[in-house]
Formats: sequence, C-alpha cells, structure tokens
Amino acid sequence: MATLIRQCRPRGEGICDVLVSDGRITGKGADLAADGGVAVIDGSGCVLLPGLVDAHTHLDKTLIGTPWHPHSAGERLIDLITNERRVLTELDLDPALQSRRMVHHMLERGTTAIRSHVDIGTDIGLRHFHGVAATREACTDLVAIQIVAFPQTGMMIMPGVADLMEQAVKEGAEVVGGLDPVGIDRDPKGQLDAIFAIAGKHGCEIDIHLHDLGEMGAITIDMIAKRTAALGLEGKVTISHAFCLGDIDDARLDGLITLLRDNDIAIATCGAGHYPIPPIRKLRAAGIRMFAGSDGVRDAWGPLNNGDMLERAYQLAWHGDTRDDPGIETMLDLATHGGAQAMGLADYGLDVGCRADLVLVEAETPAEAVCYHPPRRMVMAGGRVVAENGKSLLPAP
Ligand SMILES: [Zn+2]
Repeated sequence: MATLIRQCRPRGEGICDVLVSDGRITGKGADLAADGGVAVIDGSGCVLLPGLVDAHTHLDKTLIGTPWHPHSAGERLIDLITNERRVLTELDLDPALQSRRMVHHMLERGTTAIRSHVDIGTDIGLRHFHGVAATREACTDLVAIQIVAFPQTGMMIMPGVADLMEQAVKEGAEVVGGLDPVGIDRDPKGQLDAIFAIAGKHGCEIDIHLHDLGEMGAITIDMIAKRTAALGLEGKVTISHAFCLGDIDDARLDGLITLLRDNDIAIATCGAGHYPIPPIRKLRAAGIRMFAGSDGVRDAWGPLNNGDMLERAYQLAWHGDTRDDPGIETMLDLATHGGAQAMGLADYGLDVGCRADLVLVEAETPAEAVCYHPPRRMVMAGGRVVAENGKSLLPAP
C-alpha cells in the first residue's frame, strides 16, 4: 500500500512530494510518479512534520470519553493526589479503555509516540499497568508506547510499592519512576536508592517526577546525579518537571547544569500552570537533552490539558515569552525529535527510510504551525492515514 503526499513542505522547507510505501518514507522529490494503486493526498503547501511525541503523560488516569467531571481538588500536591484516588475509586474506570481512548485522542492530534507514567500502588497493585500494557499491545502498529512504573502515592511511605514497581519492570515497563523523594517520601536516600537499585538490576531507564522547589529540588538533583555516575547510568536518567531549575539563583543553576550535562541526565517539561519551569533555551544551549509532554490530560488533576503537542509547544513558548522563529522551533523540537531521542526511536524523522509517522499542518512554517496549532489536516501512523481534518478515522474504542 503506497501513498503519495503531493506538494507539501517537509519541516517548512521547499515544496516537494513525499512517497510512503510499506509504512516507511521511500521517496522525496519534485513531481514523483504516482503509479496505479498509489493513493494521492493533496498536501496543498502545508507543513509536513514527523509524528508528535508526548513523552510525559499519564494514559491510565484520563477521564476522556466519560461525562464532564468538574474539578474538585485542593491546591496542594497532596490534595491533588488524594483527591485523584478518591475520584478514580468512585468512577471505577477501566485503565485499558481509558488509555485506549487517550491514544486515539492523541493520534487525532498527530501524536504517534508516547511515554506514559502509570500508577503503581498498594491499593491498585498493577491494575493500571496491566491496562496500559494491553493498550500498548493493541495499538502497536499505530503508536509507540513506553511505560514508566510510577509511585503516585509515594514509595517509602507505602511499603510494598517498590516491590510492585520492580514487578512491573519485570513484566515490561521500560522505565522506573519516582516522585519527590523529599516532598512526598521525606526519605530521599531511601527512595532514590530503591529506584536506582531496580534500574541497576534490570537495565531499565529512570524518570523521576520532581516538583520540589528551590534548594529541596536542587539537593535532589545532586543526589540523582551522584547515583547516576556511581551506577554508570549516564544517558538513561530523566528528571521530569524539575521546577527548581526555574526557581534558584544563577550560580546554583549553573552548577546543576554542569551536573546534568556531565551525567547526561535529560529534563522533561510540561510547561503550563503557575509553577516555574526550567529555562529551556539556556539548558538546550548547554547541551542538556530536553523533551516535552502533556502530563495528565483531562483528569482529576485538572481539565486544562488537552493532549495536543503542537499546543504544548505553543505553551512552552508562551511560558518563556519566546517569540523568534528559532526559539519557537526549539519548543517544537522538544515535542518531536527531543522526545523521540528520549524514547530511543531510531527510525524517527522525515528522511527516506524513516517510519511514516507524519502530520500535515495548514501553515507556512513550523513556527506558524506551533503558534496557531490548527486541527491537523492529516495524520499518518506507520503509513496508515488515521485522521483527516482534525477527525479520527479509527473506530472508537
Ligand atoms: Zn506527570
């Protein structure tokens, strides 16, 4: 099955045709021949982007596809966590169905690769993990999904959670997660030692949620870097959010940037809300790997995130008052190549030979695509057209 996309602008560059066969990009050039049987899509001069990458989200907990749920949590992190458990228990949703709904929702918006943190707890066991793993299996032809075993309700304060996280890794979670070793567990040594022990034993990656601000967060980064070096896990550790990097003085920040670079620790950012966020351009200029994600999409943490990674790139630009094209394209890079690199997607991009995960956006340049993030003209996943004009072509889960 072959498809020819006529007259598009790969990455906003010169107009050309792009040929897709057997799920891969097999040709690029002017006036490519469309033999009989080749489906033709009119690119109309639209920007062609590689599939968007949402490398920090929570597929298991979305309320998408269910009746509207007015936000009910208090403002503190612990209020949000306990409220979410209450809401999910009351609604009794199926994590397999909810994650499948969210994958379709994201595909409609051009996302073709997802790293999802998935709750592990002594109350829910591995139920959410098994649900998302089922979705990963069912959607394997359409979307790449990486699972992070995530201790949402704490690790050291919840005896048994570390064992469950290790079990999830044994059953196929690619990444072991963590959560505010100081702020939630009040035992940074205990939590980090447990996480790094799992990674050291099973060879998985690490991705730790770090909301703690100021020096509390900075000390945690010191401790993460020390363990990364000790176990030789350079290139396999991510810190998500790292709000403290946007909340400390320049001298301390420069020291932490050196630590992150020397240990090749990546930073994931979601960008929205009232929290400080890492200074993206400064970190990128220093060679720190960065990528982006939606975080929770329409869930008990809040209704504002919508799972659109072009809009997320816009929000990152807006948050940092980034207005120049190279700056806006940097934010898009976090939502495309940055996330693909973090997920280890070797055949990602717009070159001949790459997997045909493609998004057609009605815009003249990538920066314009970010600024206006219109409904996607066309989304292709593994060579299959899965959405047109902002509407999914897939059967509803
Ligand atoms: Zn998160």
